Amino acid sequence: MMHEWRFVLAVGSLFILAGCRPAAPTAPPEPVSGVDVVHYEVDLHLDPATRMLQARTRLTVQHPDTLTRLSLLLRGMNVDSVLVDSSEVEVNREGSHWPIPLSPGKDTSQVDLHYHGVPETGFYERASRSQSVFFSDAWPTDGSGWLPGIHHPADPATLTLRLTIPFGYEAAATGTPQFLDTLGGAVRYQWHLDVPAPTYAFAFAVADFSIVEASVGDTLPVRYYMLAEDAADADLLRRTPAALAYFSEVFGPYPFASYASVEVPIRYAGMENAAAAFLQPELFRTGEAEVVQVHELAHQWFGNRVPIASWNDLWLSEGTATYLETLFFEHADGLAAAREQWVVLADMNPFRRRTHTVLVPAEPQHPNTLLTWVPYDKGASVLHLLRRKLGDITFFEAFRTVYTRHAGRPLSTKVFQQIMEDVSEQDLSDFFAYWVYEDRLPVLDTKWDAITRTLAWQIIEDGGTLADVSFELQVQQQNRIVYVDVRERKAILAGWDEARPDVHPVGVLMNVR
Ligand SMILES: [Zn+2]
Repeated sequence: MMHEWRFVLAVGSLFILAGCRPAAPTAPPEPVSGVDVVHYEVDLHLDPATRMLQARTRLTVQHPDTLTRLSLLLRGMNVDSVLVDSSEVEVNREGSHWPIPLSPGKDTSQVDLHYHGVPETGFYERASRSQSVFFSDAWPTDGSGWLPGIHHPADPATLTLRLTIPFGYEAAATGTPQFLDTLGGAVRYQWHLDVPAPTYAFAFAVADFSIVEASVGDTLPVRYYMLAEDAADADLLRRTPAALAYFSEVFGPYPFASYASVEVPIRYAGMENAAAAFLQPELFRTGEAEVVQVHELAHQWFGNRVPIASWNDLWLSEGTATYLETLFFEHADGLAAAREQWVVLADMNPFRRRTHTVLVPAEPQHPNTLLTWVPYDKGASVLHLLRRKLGDITFFEAFRTVYTRHAGRPLSTKVFQQIMEDVSEQDLSDFFAYWVYEDRLPVLDTKWDAITRTLAWQIIEDGGTLADVSFELQVQQQNRIVYVDVRERKAILAGWDEARPDVHPVGVLMNVR
C-alpha cells in the first residue's frame, strides 16, 4: 500500500495522519500455529443497485488432526449454511468469529459457507469521474466484510474468484482472468491466483473500465484497467513493463501469471492487490501514477510473494517497496534521480522529529496504528544504510536470498537480520538494535566557517553504527548543490556565499544541527 501522508496535498479528501487517528485499537489475534488456509474458492453475485452480495466460499484448510474448531473471521453478513466436508454443521457465531467444528482425525478440511448481505466493511461504492465504482478493500482485515477466512499476513493462500454482475459493467480482480460466461442478463468472470498471497491483497472492482494491454516480452501480460474517460492516461504507466523486468532481474522472476493495475477510488494512494494493484484516480492528475505503480508492483515480490510474519514486521513490506521505488528510478533515470528521492526519505522535518521511530515495536500493534512514515520511509532509509554498509554486491545477494528462501514463507525481522548476517558474514546485532528496535537517531553536528567557506561536520550519538560507512551529504546553497562523502568530515566551498548552506543526508536518517 502507499499511504497518504506522501500524497496528502494531492489527494485532499482522503487521509489518515498520525494525530487524527482515534485511540489505538487492540492488535488482532495471531493465527493458530499449524493452521493454514491453502485455497479460497469464492463465488460472488453482486447487485450493484443495492450493493447486495450473494456468496459462497469454499476454504481448503490444512491443520493438525487434533484441531476440533477452526475460527474464521466474517463480519456482518448473514450466514445461510455451513458445510464441513460436504456435511451441514451448526455454528454459533461469537461476534465476528465463526467457530467451525471439524471432523475428528483429519488434517485437511473443506469448509463451505453460504452467506449474503450488504457488506458493512471492505466493500464500497464511490463516485469517481462520471461513474460509480464498486470495489473491495481488504487491508488489514477488512476483507472479512465479504470473505470468511484467516485474515493474517502469515497465512497466504491461492484464490479462485468468480464474480457475477449485470451486463454493462467491466470487472477486474486479484489473479489472472480465466473466462467470462454470459448468463441471461448477467456476466460471470473467473480469475485465478496460482501463487499464494495474503488475504489483504485479495480484491475486485466493478466499473466501466477501458482495458489497455501491454506485456513484458511475450510471456507476461500487463493490463491497465482505466476508468473509461481516463483511458489515455494509461500512457503514464508505460514504464510498468520495464519496472517488472528490472525487479525480475534483480530479485527473481515476477511471481504471478499476469500483472494489472486498476484505477479505483480507494482510501490509499495505491494498494498492492495480488497481480492487480489498485491506483487512486487522483494520481493520474498529480503526476504520481508511475511512482505509486512501481511501489505496488514491488510489493508483488515483497509483501505478497514474501509475506510478513506479523503485522509488526510491516516495514519489511512497506520499507522494502518504498526502497525498491528508488532502485527502479536509479536504474531507469540514473543516480541523480535516486539521490533526490533518498534525500526526501531521510528528511527529518519538524513533524517527524515528534514521532517515535521504532521500526518493530516490542508489543503487538493493531496494523492501522503502524501506518506512519516510519515503516515506509525510515524502513527504506535503513535498507539504504544496510546497502551502504554491506556494499552493493553483498546487499543485493542478501536480498535475493531473502526472496528465494521466503517466497511463500512468512518473513520476520529476526530472520531477515539472520540472512543479512549470513550472507555478509557480519554481526549486525548492534545495527539492528539501534536502527530497528530502538527509538534513536544519530546527530550530524555541522559547523560553518563563513570566512574560509568551510563546512565541517561530525556524527554523534550513532552508537557506533555509522563508523566507516560511506554515504553522501547533499550540500546546497540556492541553486548550487554538491555531494560529499560523509567520511571526509569537511568541505571547502570556494566561491560560495557567506550564508550557511543547507545539509541533507542522502538516504540516512539523522538530525542535522
Ligand atoms: Zn506499500
